[in-house]
Amino acid sequence: MIKPSSFSRISIVLLCISFFSVSCSVISTGSKPEPLSSYDVQVKELLSRMTLEEKIGQMIQTDQEHLRDPADIEKYYIGSVLSGGNSDPAEGNSLQAWTDRYDQLQKYALETRLGIPILYGIDAVHGHNNVLSAVIFPHNIGLGCMRDPELVEKISRITAIEMRATGIQWTFAPCVTVPRDERWGRTYEGFSEDPGLVKILGEASIRGLQGRELNSPLSVLACAKHYIGDGGTTAVLRGRRGIRLDQGDTQIDEQTLRRIHLPPYVAAVQAGVGTIMPSYSSWNGLKCSASKRLLTEILKEELGFEGFLISDYRAIDQVDPDYKTAIGISINAGMDMGMIPSKYREFFTYLKELVEEGVVPVSRIDDAVTRILRVKCAMGLLNKNRSHLAYRGLHNKFGSNEHRQVAREAVRKSLVLLKNEICVLPISKQVSHIHVSGKNADNLGNQCGGWTIDWQGRSGQVTPGGTTILAAVKNTVSKNTKVTFSIDGTEAQGADIGIVVIGERPYAEGMGDSADLAIDQADIEALDNMRKTGIPVVVILISGRPLIINDCFDKADAFIAAWLPGTEGQGVADVLFGDYEPTGILSFTWPRSIDQVPINIGDDDYDPLFEYGFGLPYCFR
Ligand code: BGC
Repeated sequence: MIKPSSFSRISIVLLCISFFSVSCSVISTGSKPEPLSSYDVQVKELLSRMTLEEKIGQMIQTDQEHLRDPADIEKYYIGSVLSGGNSDPAEGNSLQAWTDRYDQLQKYALETRLGIPILYGIDAVHGHNNVLSAVIFPHNIGLGCMRDPELVEKISRITAIEMRATGIQWTFAPCVTVPRDERWGRTYEGFSEDPGLVKILGEASIRGLQGRELNSPLSVLACAKHYIGDGGTTAVLRGRRGIRLDQGDTQIDEQTLRRIHLPPYVAAVQAGVGTIMPSYSSWNGLKCSASKRLLTEILKEELGFEGFLISDYRAIDQVDPDYKTAIGISINAGMDMGMIPSKYREFFTYLKELVEEGVVPVSRIDDAVTRILRVKCAMGLLNKNRSHLAYRGLHNKFGSNEHRQVAREAVRKSLVLLKNEICVLPISKQVSHIHVSGKNADNLGNQCGGWTIDWQGRSGQVTPGGTTILAAVKNTVSKNTKVTFSIDGTEAQGADIGIVVIGERPYAEGMGDSADLAIDQADIEALDNMRKTGIPVVVILISGRPLIINDCFDKADAFIAAWLPGTEGQGVADVLFGDYEPTGILSFTWPRSIDQVPINIGDDDYDPLFEYGFGLPYCFR
């Protein structure tokens, strides 16, 4: 096992000390949010004036792209609209088009009898990542390696501001999953395999998104997801990818569930998170979305969660083959709002019938709507003297250089140096010739990963702005330094040093489940070609999780895990050329072979390639 060297151990201890003093100071300065139930006087008064139809409408969230007629917002009193992974405005994917679409739909809600505004939800999970030109931050796995809650809070604040520029006021983030098996395609959405770290960074993110006051025009509503145990499912060997973990079954006892997967939710509730999304997955065979024990008894009664539960996308459909039965089970279990992208008319009719038939008690409807209205009230949405349309004055902040500099800082702090045996790094900016190669060296889409513009992400120039790693290298070196590039590692002759950028291509959710976590053959060939010239080679791995790297690792002179850094590749060059020392340390255990997976800190016979918390500084020079 590769353990932290004595020098890096000292640095880790120092990092840990500074980490905890930072987190304490953040926690102690943050004022406690107002309890959501403190809005109940106003909410109860409004509720008493609502018809059953108006109440049911508040419990519906539909996808803007499946809205059969925008006037349905008025007709079905719809309380919320979302844009799912690929749901862009029909007019295009520009800042302007998103803002116009938000305003258009909001106007329909404002025209209803009670004029209750809609909440517009989106997956702004690493920046306002659906919208062209937004700054894209590293995915959570990279943020976990920074051990810097203050910076996570700042990133979330910026995300909130870019969201509010489009009017959108609700993000399905932070993902406070505790991924315990990196074969899972959603590993990168989690900060760490360690619940303690997830708890601290999840809380920081909620503070940044919701701000000091939820009713500030710069705050957005946060959503802790996916409750609970989404990262603890048991692998099933089957399917095209040879394995299935996503939306699976978490087979653990309640004590283990509470120890590993509950702590981030305890912290999220204490931080005043307004919404929580129950997971698609099951706990010991029962869908979380159908579990009264999980939704009502533990979350609402025991933890005192006063906000509302939003189902995952079409998750209620999975509760029972009969849609009406599924609705009854889920709502009675404690679900407050359904994410019903297209079948919202059916949901409306069935839920009304279920109430009239006595299957769903009126008291359950009143509880759900009270929770939704509490949040709307806390956000200032029930204030008639306020505009509920987008504040376009924020457009000049969107994707701004100021925001990009914060993302760049996050990139350089998230890199983990795994090897630097002959002190190849940092590279001198004066070196005469650098050869760069690998499929991820000049590919913005690959370095951003999934949930970037498209649900699954995309290779190539996925969004305007941003800097690839190749461009960042060129920006950083001296005028006299020649930088050459070939994807496959050939043509490196004459170079003083080579940089090979390898790893994964974008994916999201179950599409990313992987049975072998293997490095692509083309990546290995690029590395081999580069090595043939005999020059020192630096490998940069772009990936949503630790991969099985042994072969590449042995062939590299230096090795950096760069995760999914987002648009600001300049942060990688900051470290490569020594403007910043690497400070990142692993937030996940790095397995030495696929047979070891799942492997997590605290396991018996823990013998990984790199321990949780490993990360090298530069050599003494
Ligand atoms: C994902 C959620 C996401 C939702 C809305 C689902 O497929 O599981 O994480 O918030 O879609 O886009």
